[in-house]
Amino acid sequence: MEWVIATNNKGKLAEFARILEALGLRAVSQREAGVCLEVEETGKTFEENAYLKAAAAAKASGRPAVADDSGLEVDALGGLPGVYTARYAGEHATDGQNIDKLLAALGDLPEDQRGARFVSAICCVLPDGRSFTVRGECEGRIGFARAGEGGFGYDPVFFVGERSFAQLSAAEKDACSHRGKALRAFAARLREQNWEQTAAD
Ligand code: IMP
Repeated sequence: MEWVIATNNKGKLAEFARILEALGLRAVSQREAGVCLEVEETGKTFEENAYLKAAAAAKASGRPAVADDSGLEVDALGGLPGVYTARYAGEHATDGQNIDKLLAALGDLPEDQRGARFVSAICCVLPDGRSFTVRGECEGRIGFARAGEGGFGYDPVFFVGERSFAQLSAAEKDACSHRGKALRAFAARLREQNWEQTAAD
């Protein structure tokens, strides 16, 4: 079974492709599958939005699709920006604008009050409508300034231990990240479902 990865986010796509490949799962981008979609994220939870994206890609491509909806829950902000993470500084905000707004919102709060977690809900949908959703989380904290050149999105300000996500190698990030955990849970659940077998029958 080959999975269509339902995202237009290049950073996410790279992580999906390398993690799924390491798990022995085959994947293509929705662009490669000939699908051009911009799904409105109207859900109130990461799980609802992940389903909307995967279901739309499965319908448009006629192939199994997998999507992630992810974001940052910051303790000092009562769990925000949450499902609004991509749009934190406005509808078409850049990563840079989102990070600037987050750093300004936390100001000089001391390190022990800068706790946050990244959340990733992964949903997969088959063209016949079967689906399931799993979740991965990664605890960390928001730094006082950007550090590192790697990764994407909020990586330069999300710290696990002494280093930001942007200072980790791809393998180091995948081993502890929300998306790495969620994709490994997805692969394990897929083996339990035995869908590969069903699809080959
Ligand atoms: P989504 O595309 O609606 O799921 O939005 C996800 C938001 O969270 C975007 O702003 C991403 O940049 C951010 N995000 C999700 N995962 C990561 C990550 O691993 N590193 C940095 N930012 C992330």
